[in-house]
Amino acid sequence: MRCAICYRQAKGFGWQAPHIRIHLQIDVAPALRRRFTFCSMRCQAAFSRIVIKTEGRMIDPSELELAALQSCLAPLGDYVGAIGMDRPLADYSKREVQGLVETIVSAYQEYMIDAHEQMAKRDLAFLEERLAASRQNSQKNSQQAPQQTQQHGLQHRSLARGTGVPF
Ligand SMILES: [Zn+2]
Repeated sequence: MRCAICYRQAKGFGWQAPHIRIHLQIDVAPALRRRFTFCSMRCQAAFSRIVIKTEGRMIDPSELELAALQSCLAPLGDYVGAIGMDRPLADYSKREVQGLVETIVSAYQEYMIDAHEQMAKRDLAFLEERLAASRQNSQKNSQQAPQQTQQHGLQHRSLARGTGVPF
């Protein structure tokens, strides 16, 4: 099992949409109708923040993967440069090959985690902006139209009594 964020081996952390929502197929994007596993709470938190803040709309993972691959090129160049550009791969010792793989994998994982954390941050900022705007609007409305608020109160009371609300 791989971590859904950074592709390290998953270690007992997971996420799944609520069963009833999957069963009824309400508000759960097809891509989210499965279990996701994670290597750490950091990756689990990054994932669940994105799901919540984007209300289940997640960005295309292939775009991210491509960007993550590109982020490996500079560290790869540095590593090969340090070993000696003119040396063929067949001359690398086992330790040098392992170092090469580790350089690429680490850069890839770091990019993936960072990108997900940044997305979660952006989505949170967007949501907070919308919440603040809607709070301002409801304050304006309550100042301008106290009668309307009273009417809403009546509707809530009739709902609570189970008598329904006229359309
Ligand atoms: Zn991870």
